[in-house]
Amino acid sequence: MKKFTRRSFLEFGSFGIAGAGLAFTPKANNNASDTKKLNIAICGLGRYGTYLAEGMETAEYCRVAGIITGTPSKAATWKKKYNIPDKNIYNYQNFDSIATNKDIDLVYVVLPNAMHKEYVIRAAKAGKHVIVEKPMAITAADCREMIDACKKAGVQLAMGYRLHYEPYHIELRRLGQQKIFGNVKIMEASLGYISSNPDEWRVHKALSGGGPLMNLGVYCVQVARYVTGEEPVSVSAQFGPVTNKEIFKEVEESITWQLGFSGGAVCNSTSTYNCGIDRFYAGAEKGSFELSPAISYGPFIGKTSAGPLSFPTINQQQVQCDEISIKILAGEPLPEHIKGEEGLKDMIVLEAIYKSAESGGKKLSIN
Ligand code: NAD
Repeated sequence: MKKFTRRSFLEFGSFGIAGAGLAFTPKANNNASDTKKLNIAICGLGRYGTYLAEGMETAEYCRVAGIITGTPSKAATWKKKYNIPDKNIYNYQNFDSIATNKDIDLVYVVLPNAMHKEYVIRAAKAGKHVIVEKPMAITAADCREMIDACKKAGVQLAMGYRLHYEPYHIELRRLGQQKIFGNVKIMEASLGYISSNPDEWRVHKALSGGGPLMNLGVYCVQVARYVTGEEPVSVSAQFGPVTNKEIFKEVEESITWQLGFSGGAVCNSTSTYNCGIDRFYAGAEKGSFELSPAISYGPFIGKTSAGPLSFPTINQQQVQCDEISIKILAGEPLPEHIKGEEGLKDMIVLEAIYKSAESGGKKLSIN
């Protein structure tokens, strides 16, 4: 059984408390008088915004300091729960006035995918650092605009990729990139669940940008990219059958694709809204490693051809928010693999997957 250590966490992808040089004792509370925490305003108080806030309840380096919501009843509930002063509560119309609020350092955009671009750019123009949820936007062109806006405003843009801080995934990255079992040859990464709500924004293209590929497939692309440490160079993709025509009028119900990587590895993936699947497998020259569940909030179960993997189950939202906050509090640049540019790289691959599927499965180059 391999033991997870703080050192391995730091070496393989996290940004360490040790390196941040922060001279304060962390506290696990949401106390507004604690000025050493990064003050985060959550934009979009839906299901995932709620998870993030719950994660931040035990965060050491950030707190829920503000909210942006279109629903007054949610504002009242959150105000009470997180002790948020009225001056830190915004709606979508008056949001830009956050520019003059010195008590908000960062805006975390957790809205439907198609709204990410507008709110990231507005937050950047207001001089706030930004975290944006996955997928970064609905087109690569939008991602580029978001990156440019943040650069122009001199603020940092982080992706809300929670698995970058997760011990099993840090280990997957180590096993793959350090070629512990030799070169990875074949990967399988798939994620799906059953979606049966026709009113959900995720099945409406104008808000989601696409179906399970945008929502879930982005993780499959990510994991294959960080296990190999390479960019995919070719893609072939097919849409799956539509079994529920009532719901899947605008977006795909499922999609399957194969990515070819520059070093010769291949990753086969499916993302779907018609069954549950959550797995990653890598077959390498001298062995294999795998997780299932692999991508959800855990607990994960993993093994290699040499034996079981065993790491602590973390609160992914808390650790992600803390690790990003440590860097921003220290005034240091975010590591490359968590910046907006990483979201753009994924979006380029997602667009190529759709292009191939729309062409009936043609093998296309990705560039
Ligand atoms: P949700 O439907 O639960 O919440 C969406 C929020 O946006 C709600 O508060 C809603 O009121 C608000 N909103 C504002 N304008 C809206 C509009 N025109 N239509 C619909 N909602 C509108 O969605 P969610 O599950 O919280 O997802 C939000 C974002 O978070 C998405 O980009 C999603 O991909 C991402 N997400 C990430 C993870 C993760 O594990 N990292 C998990 C779930 C969701």
